[in-house]
Amino acid sequence: MLVTKRIEGKARAARLIGDVTAATAALKAGPGIIPGLCTVLVGNDPASQSYVGSKGKAAIAAGIASFQHRLPDATSEAELLALIDQLNADEKIDGILVQLPLPKHIDPQRVIGAVDPAKDVDGFHARNVGLLWSGGQRRALLPCTPYGCLLLLRDTVPDLTGAEAVVLGRSNIVGKPMAALLLAENCTVTLAHSRSRDVAALVRRADVLVAAVGQPELVRGDWIKPGAVVIDVGFNRIAAADGKSRAVGDVAFAEAQGIAAAITPVPGGVGPMTIACLLRNTVIAACRRRGRAEPQVLS
Ligand code: NAP
Repeated sequence: MLVTKRIEGKARAARLIGDVTAATAALKAGPGIIPGLCTVLVGNDPASQSYVGSKGKAAIAAGIASFQHRLPDATSEAELLALIDQLNADEKIDGILVQLPLPKHIDPQRVIGAVDPAKDVDGFHARNVGLLWSGGQRRALLPCTPYGCLLLLRDTVPDLTGAEAVVLGRSNIVGKPMAALLLAENCTVTLAHSRSRDVAALVRRADVLVAAVGQPELVRGDWIKPGAVVIDVGFNRIAAADGKSRAVGDVAFAEAQGIAAAITPVPGGVGPMTIACLLRNTVIAACRRRGRAEPQVLS
């Protein structure tokens, strides 16, 4: 029986963070540049608080200056846009990350559109999205989660050319940019969503499957083509036998064993890559904004 390889995202992310840390040390020792990342959180959502906390800590550990703005839930859209203007003009800040979701009274598209594209380390601004889809991805800031998935795939599949890739989920954050990145790698891409007919049959075609639906273990073992490489972006909490909860992905990990050639675990797969890519983007933004070549190891 095939032995399914576990794609160790945690270790890959640690390597990337090592490269980022070396790059920030060189920038500081040479031209005296300290890249700066600013997170903006509106409201008190506990998961979002924890995410921005981890991002800030990871930035500091990698030699990036961390700035944080925590605003009350009642912050108006105009107040948030005024803060973003201020951050766009602040020379100490190279990357701006507005934690999503925003409270209902704030239009996320307007806020994302207000961030200077050169500081858009989430890669969500229409300019970066446009560059990604029009062959200019080397000049874009790329969205962190899909780019992290691509790095894991490149390590696992030396040449993605011609591979049948199926992306489950069409969000702006994961599914759509993932499809664009795989297309740029010369895959034949199917982008499936909740209105797709016979999702299981679509998934069975995939040499490469990226699941990003937010549905616990939606993808069963018998949906997976033997020998496929599976990247599981999903992060879902389900009740565990001990009365606590445990994290599972969008793919039934145990059922994939012996069928998939390789699969990312949840947790410890895609999640750590997202933060590592955010730090990478911040250093790249710091270099580009100053007209400097970006460190080779990060490009
Ligand atoms: P999202 O915005 O909720 O989008 C989910 C997508 O999945 C939508 O396009 C939806 O289709 C599709 N979908 C839902 N049920 C489906 C089904 N039964 N069959 C086929 N497609 C289905 O979610 P997201 O932000 O992309 O996140 C997806 C998952 O990834 C979540 O578990 C999230 O926690 C996780 N995530 C993890 C990281 C990380 O760093 N590890 C980062 C981001 C997200 P429609 O468009 O038709 O509604």
